[in-house]
Amino acid sequence: LEPKEEFEHSSLAVDVMRPRRSDPPLAVLTQDSMTVGGVESTRYSGFPVVVSQESPRLVGFVLRRDLLISIDNARKRQDGVVGASLVVFSEHPPAQAPDGPPPLRLRGIMDLSPFTVTDHTPMDITVDIFRKLGLRQCLVTHNGRLLGIITKKDILKHMAQIANRDPDSILFN
Ligand code: ADP
Repeated sequence: LEPKEEFEHSSLAVDVMRPRRSDPPLAVLTQDSMTVGGVESTRYSGFPVVVSQESPRLVGFVLRRDLLISIDNARKRQDGVVGASLVVFSEHPPAQAPDGPPPLRLRGIMDLSPFTVTDHTPMDITVDIFRKLGLRQCLVTHNGRLLGIITKKDILKHMAQIANRDPDSILFN
């Protein structure tokens, strides 16, 4: 590899990711304690799925759109889905209350190896990966701990701020 003379990294993944310091924490779904009602009231386009609130180990990533389609399909099949139905992403569902509604098992719609970068990954490399892999979002970790998320739109906004130009013309055209 040739040494690059002007190897200048202006920003890092941690500068672009959400949440910002002042924002509410990253919204995650737990693998076997969410309800249909809870999932339906979310607002982001996608969610990291973690083991539990106490053990926030990453299990996968799920798109809100896919969640809503699956819930809708289950309702159409009349699977007994109500707001209190558990949404389960784990391989083995937790023990079910005898009089409770059956859980909705959605492991199949989860991306089991979502793309991640570390907080110190330079943004030019991150942008390159987004382009080459056609990513819509990626997760950000520090020492394996889940820190945040970067969406394609976050990158476009960041580049627009830097270049003060039409973002679409810079990155993804
Ligand atoms: P887009 O960036 O395309 O509008 P979203 O609606 O998912 O997509 O995200 C809106 C903003 O919220 C973005 O800045 C994104 O980084 C952030 N965001 C996305 N998902 C989450 C999440 N699960 N928790 C916290 N913030 C998120």
